[in-house]
Amino acid sequence: MAEKYVYKFGGSIADGNAKMKNLLGGKGANLAEMSNIGLPVPAGFTITTEICTYFFEKGGKYPEGMDKDVEAGLEHIENIMGGKFGDAENPLLVSVRSGARASMPGMMDTILNLGLNDVTIEGLIEQTGNPRFAYDSYRRFVQMYGDVVMGVRPEGVDDHDPFEVLLEAKKKACGAESDVDLDADALKELVHEYKVMIKERLGEEFPEEPIDQLWGSVSAVFDSWNNDRAIAYREMNDIPAEWGTAVNVQAMVYGNMGDDSGTGVGFTRDPATGENVFYGEYLLNAQGEDVVAGTRTPHPIADLKQDMPEVFDLLSSFRETLDSHYREMQDFEFTIQKGKLYMLQTRGGKRTGFASIRIAVEQVREGLITKEEALGRVDPEQLNQLLRPVFNVEQKRNTLKAGHLLAKGLNAGPGAASGQIVFNALDATKWKAEGKTVILVRIETSPEDIRGMEASEGILTARGGMTSHAALVARQMGKVCVAGCGDLNINYQNRVMNVEGKVLKEGDWISLDGSVGEVIEGKLETYPSEVEQVLILKTMKPEESMVYGLYNELLTWADEVRKLNVRTNSDQPDQATAAVAFGAEGIGLCRTEHMFFGGDRIDAVRQMILSEDEAGRRKALDKLLPMQQADFAGIFRAMNGRPVTIRTLDPPLHEFLPHEQADIEKLSVQMDIPVEDLERKVESLKEMNPMLGHRGCRLGNSYPEITEMQARAIFSAAAEVKSEGIEVHPEVMIPLVAHVNELELQRKVVVKAADEVIKETGVDFEYLVGTMIELPRACLTADRIAEQAEFFSYGTNDLTQTTFGLSRDDAGGFIGNYLEKKLWEKDPFVAIDREGVGELMKIGVAKGRSIRPDLKIGICGEHGGEPTSVEFCHMLGLNYVSCSPYRVPIARLAAARAALDHK
Ligand code: PEP
Ligand code: MG
Repeated sequence: MAEKYVYKFGGSIADGNAKMKNLLGGKGANLAEMSNIGLPVPAGFTITTEICTYFFEKGGKYPEGMDKDVEAGLEHIENIMGGKFGDAENPLLVSVRSGARASMPGMMDTILNLGLNDVTIEGLIEQTGNPRFAYDSYRRFVQMYGDVVMGVRPEGVDDHDPFEVLLEAKKKACGAESDVDLDADALKELVHEYKVMIKERLGEEFPEEPIDQLWGSVSAVFDSWNNDRAIAYREMNDIPAEWGTAVNVQAMVYGNMGDDSGTGVGFTRDPATGENVFYGEYLLNAQGEDVVAGTRTPHPIADLKQDMPEVFDLLSSFRETLDSHYREMQDFEFTIQKGKLYMLQTRGGKRTGFASIRIAVEQVREGLITKEEALGRVDPEQLNQLLRPVFNVEQKRNTLKAGHLLAKGLNAGPGAASGQIVFNALDATKWKAEGKTVILVRIETSPEDIRGMEASEGILTARGGMTSHAALVARQMGKVCVAGCGDLNINYQNRVMNVEGKVLKEGDWISLDGSVGEVIEGKLETYPSEVEQVLILKTMKPEESMVYGLYNELLTWADEVRKLNVRTNSDQPDQATAAVAFGAEGIGLCRTEHMFFGGDRIDAVRQMILSEDEAGRRKALDKLLPMQQADFAGIFRAMNGRPVTIRTLDPPLHEFLPHEQADIEKLSVQMDIPVEDLERKVESLKEMNPMLGHRGCRLGNSYPEITEMQARAIFSAAAEVKSEGIEVHPEVMIPLVAHVNELELQRKVVVKAADEVIKETGVDFEYLVGTMIELPRACLTADRIAEQAEFFSYGTNDLTQTTFGLSRDDAGGFIGNYLEKKLWEKDPFVAIDREGVGELMKIGVAKGRSIRPDLKIGICGEHGGEPTSVEFCHMLGLNYVSCSPYRVPIARLAAARAALDHK
């Protein structure tokens, strides 16, 4: 551990800077940076993240000598700000806040107004000449300290905060409508009542000594790194527990010293839309927590121009300084104390996926950042938000006309959602687990609600602004959110809400339009996004949609740098067409079995399976051939010359068999076989295994005529489409190969069919025969297999199941538990397990290319559309990834980022 425990900032100098996030946390590093670039920051010091690690390792102790550093830090603050910690005449008051490497808004604890006691309060009154302000600060401090450090808080989900209960009672007793109507005497009484309540609950006095308050707070803030909501947030955002948090101790400045004071939050660009405008909110005569917690609904920043023109101009210039200095949208907090502006923090601003893309693209246009930097700033998953549904415009309009608009709030998280009302986070997770779609309705959300928010389609709050907790977290999760909807009258106990005379109960359906902030009664259909309207439905022209323009520009840049090709897994012409519109460069997997269920062909499939001999099977296969040929022709046409990998039959035959008595009887008539014989046959074909029996190439080797039919259908379709003047590149892929001999036999059948079709039709075409690599033995013997394969495609679904010895279909039941216990870091069916499955893939690539140096290798398991897996495929040197159509844009961006990160 470094010898330096404490880093000072303020007064236009600092020990640290913005690059020291690991040691000072994001907040501490940026406070230092703002000091360095001359912005007015209240003086303070940062206790490093290394101390946090030490604190946990040593069971709550601090290194020797740190108390001296803290004292020196306090002196630094005293020198710059004036005042003395614990002084009866001129007391210095400080805040104690967390600050981790990555921002975790509201997840950890904060203490404000620290240093107040029954003695220093007199000094504060003297200093400010404002007893009401002093006692208001005091009661806020006791409330926060009591909650955060001493643990006095509501016990159950339906309980009210014990401090709020006393506050409400006091307001009632004084006939005060809101907090600001309470006078100094009332607040003084409240401080006393708080302390008595704490003593009653804990049997312990509230600490009066400022230095004890400071150490208590520092420890509580470190401890809050391990509270439930911080842990949940870390899990959701992949933040390692080892990072720890720093603690920032900083001189208090006050936004609640009267109408020449105020506080607010600013964004250097609009966090919802990404537009390059100054966006923010403020409250006069208030503290920062009032804006963030949403207890009062703040004013838009533009109004500050009227209220305090000079401050507004200064703040606007700070906004520009921050945006261009950091070359990244900043989210900052400020306080105006008696007309003097202070910057309290800045950090990279959370934003919607849409805003993220708009800001990145526009900053390139403005010459602030490079295209490569822009690609690095958009999380591939955020593209999902551009593809998210909106309401059916017509239905919504009619619903509004019919008077079903319940209320309007702030458009805090764009998109459209419908769901059943729940009133607390626990119910949201419970109902979701029961398969219901829910909207979480709260007076205001707090970080405790994070798991419930995750489980909900949308979030609706009665209080709070665009920067309230609900709004911030919803935006980051990509949830639909309407915030600050003041017309809602919510009763948690009775689980009802009253809106303009209408009563809605738990379980009732509502719809939220997070793009305009509307709350609508009932369930509404949702509708595809603009990108989909332009690309797929063609109901909008590209030039009509700004959203599409941004999407297209970013992905064009991605295509310039990525090395991996991106294909799609599609089985139908319409899917293939959609995927091409999203940028797919070929089909990486066409699962032919999906065609076996379509239309009336299942009968022919069943006849084929249940035939006693080859002649019978051939008769049924003859019926199937033209149907499959038509399917393939449709796909070749849709792909218009792009490569198409078609896999021969994979699942075990019993998956196609009839299980209902009526179906068996129908088949018995069709095939002229007694019902009992059929039943016996169905019984004999049943398998009890996790998809590891008579399937894949084993079927084709048992019944080569099936492969033969499929190969003939593929090549006949190729000849047919080629003679229409459309280029074709069929690639026949053999599934579940474990041993080279299996592939060799299948290859012979395929090549023979191709030769025959070319001869019969007189149309020549090129084709490839390759294999899925989805069994450990195939990876380990990939050199042998490469002798027979012109390409490999990793089937990482089966490779994961066989490497882990874990059935794909049964894993869901316990993987959640495994992840919770941290036995596994990620679900291996979602993100490639690099250590195990990935190692087998690596062996397969090396061995395969040792025989064929230019062997084309791709992946068509579900992992092909998951960003970390795409990155891994890039690192392995694969040629392409293949994924479902709607994930193609995500894979394109992920591939570009992988290419940039591993230059
Ligand atoms: C795989 O196993 O990864 C694969 C793509 O094949 P399927 O999912 O059809 O078994
Ligand atoms: Mg498979």
